[in-house]
Amino acid sequence: MELTRRQEIMAMLRDGEWTLDELARNFVVSKKIIIDDLEHITRTVARPSRLLIYPPTCECGYRFKDRAKFSDPSRCPRCKNEHLAPQRLRIE
Ligand SMILES: [Zn+2]
Repeated sequence: MELTRRQEIMAMLRDGEWTLDELARNFVVSKKIIIDDLEHITRTVARPSRLLIYPPTCECGYRFKDRAKFSDPSRCPRCKNEHLAPQRLRIE
């Protein structure tokens, strides 16, 4: 049976951690499309599983807390650093 892209993304996120960029590259679609998929997945993933967002830690030590957005943070609110590592996604 052929899996849909959303089913494939769910399987990948159950297996490991992925960034938005990596998912977009893997499926050769825009990040916008992956964000739409993730918003759908986060509503449909069966409890007690859930889609988790692991935000980056900035060089200055700033940690993003409780990210709810699937787009990567563009810069650090404390030191304005724009070279943050991408956040990682996973289903647990
Ligand atoms: Zn910073």
